[in-house]
Amino acid sequence: MTELPARRLLLVHAHPDDESINNGVTMARYAAEGAHVTLVTCTLGERGEVIPPELAHLSGAALGGHRRGELTAAMRALGVDDFRLLGGPGRFADSGMTGLPDNDDPGCLWQADVDRAAELLVEVIREVRPQVLVTYDPDGGYGHPDHIQAHRIAMRAAELAAEAGCPIAKVYWNRVPRTVAEGAFARLDEELPGLPFEKAAGVEDVPGVVDDERITTEIRGEGTAYATAKTAAMSAHVTQITVAGPHFVLSNELAQPVFTTEYYELVRGERAGDSDGGARESDLFAGIETEETP
Ligand SMILES: [Zn+2]
Repeated sequence: MTELPARRLLLVHAHPDDESINNGVTMARYAAEGAHVTLVTCTLGERGEVIPPELAHLSGAALGGHRRGELTAAMRALGVDDFRLLGGPGRFADSGMTGLPDNDDPGCLWQADVDRAAELLVEVIREVRPQVLVTYDPDGGYGHPDHIQAHRIAMRAAELAAEAGCPIAKVYWNRVPRTVAEGAFARLDEELPGLPFEKAAGVEDVPGVVDDERITTEIRGEGTAYATAKTAAMSAHVTQITVAGPHFVLSNELAQPVFTTEYYELVRGERAGDSDGGARESDLFAGIETEETP
């Protein structure tokens, strides 16, 4: 096995684009710092809605293939070389939005056996031996079946990997503190008349919003090259995201702020620093003794 860097971060996501929206700053920072960053995306998002009219003809496998190209461009922007599709490209189909007949497609991620899908992720964990895993909360951030299933697969894989002698020291869920989301949308509402978007989304449209006290960790990116890289990575997902300045829209055309600080809740492992819950961690690897892999 080739020698891996001392610090190794694994992120598990449902569709191409989720990684850039949730973790673009984090991925860019750790890649730039020489950590090994591995992204596992569970589906190609081939049931996503397409924004640009000139690409509206793309659907199904053609859209999946196109989004694979977008993901490649996004990873180039973030400086991440190791990105994979769970079980290989096309192994699990996008399940579509909650309640649609797509959810019943036997090949979709929602219908996948969690243990068997988790075994595929355990293979990656055994190869890369990450100390840190990042994924969604049990609701998948906002209830999309593929996000819920990605959460289940990631958490189950962490358990199975630990049983197989390959424990992951820290597991985090993607979060946004409620006051940060509220503040950002209040500013956005004021700025909306000057923006190229007609309507704004609301706090309830942001995945993973929780009360501030649950936030354990923040990765700050304001004014850094990491924030620029995040915006570039989001922009690479042309079919899914339109970025304008510090704002973006998804296919619902509702403006949202780009968060250049990314927030996390530690759910497994030891929180570094203040044990009374005072200061937030500023490093996902804080408190982890890293050594070179044999
Ligand atoms: Zn998604």
